[in-house]
Amino acid sequence: MAKVFNWQLGRDMDYPYEGSRPERQFCMVMDTNKCIACQTCTIACKSTWTWGPGQEYMLWNNIETKPYGFYPTGWDVQVLERLGPQDWQGDTYAGKTIFEAAETGEVAVNWQPDQADWNHPNLGEDEPTGVAGEETYIPDIPHADMWMYYLQRICNHCTYPACLAACPRQAIYKRDEDGIVLIDQDRCRGYQECVAACPYKKSMFNIETRVSEKCIGCYPKIEQGLQTQCTTVCIGRLRLTDFVNTPDKADARNPADFLIHTRKVALPIYPQLGLEPNVYYIPPIHVPPKYLHQMFGPGVEEAIETYKNAKDDDELLGALMLFGSTEKIIYSFDVRGGVARGYDRKGDELVAVPLREPELVRDFSYPTTLADGTPATGYRHNT
Ligand code: SF4
Ligand code: SF4
Repeated sequence: MAKVFNWQLGRDMDYPYEGSRPERQFCMVMDTNKCIACQTCTIACKSTWTWGPGQEYMLWNNIETKPYGFYPTGWDVQVLERLGPQDWQGDTYAGKTIFEAAETGEVAVNWQPDQADWNHPNLGEDEPTGVAGEETYIPDIPHADMWMYYLQRICNHCTYPACLAACPRQAIYKRDEDGIVLIDQDRCRGYQECVAACPYKKSMFNIETRVSEKCIGCYPKIEQGLQTQCTTVCIGRLRLTDFVNTPDKADARNPADFLIHTRKVALPIYPQLGLEPNVYYIPPIHVPPKYLHQMFGPGVEEAIETYKNAKDDDELLGALMLFGSTEKIIYSFDVRGGVARGYDRKGDELVAVPLREPELVRDFSYPTTLADGTPATGYRHNT
């Protein structure tokens, strides 16, 4: 295997191919704290891309209730159990990635879900941790100890994709212009090695066409400078589609780089798996750090503290306010005079969003008599 540098692990790691970074890397930032699981994103994706024969079960975008929701069933638990110890020494990962822990003859630690595992996209929906009391519907544990949250999931368009590495047909490729990972439908022979190898289970098999498919990052929109369908329809305005640089090339004027590298409030999902995934999450502020540490790696506590202080940090607040403010991709932003502005690739202004809505306190008084001259009753007079 070749040695490649994975900045999310803070070290080199083994990967079947030589490292080659695209010209620009598609990314998404999700603020988990704002999701209401309305599934508008899921339906927007489904009605755009997966409405055909054999795609009935497919949700390229899905929202699951953590810790019990999965699509497919147990996807993350399955791979975490197979991976072994996942220790971090500070910001450096000391355990093995799925490529390094693979058994002889395998490219990566993998497992193949059964068809039944795909049947229930969010089993355990809205179930918090903790057990409700048997004799009363009031849970017998303090509410403060109960938690759940919504996790928004698409393909991570990984820098080191396991789907690509495992494909015996070289049918999967990563585009140089935007880093989006695609499956060549003509080259694919439906061996499903990508389905087994992707630890996020975002490559899916079409039983009608007999080839595999996956989230395409809405590339026809990206090519036109537009954000993805799931981003633009999001009710909670919690998604940002953008491009991310490596930390050494981070540009703090770019909203994704600012959130990921400068303020470090957005973290990759299961970075220890070793794929350098390019969907980043602002962690939920109410969930036990131990759980979050496993899912988002080191830096969770700091990310939450920084996020909580957003109200006193105009730049951070500004970057967050730009989520869902325009369908166009924001290449750079600034905050001046209490207004966050987003700009396109040429530097032209796309959108301006006030950090705080103006508050108007109306002058008011109650009438002492009604229109017909009778005294008004039931009003409290302004003094
Ligand atoms: S999330 Fe899975 S399907 Fe998507 S690029 Fe990474 S390995 Fe491939
Ligand atoms: S549209 Fe937004 S708020 Fe609704 S489920 Fe999707 S990510 Fe969550």
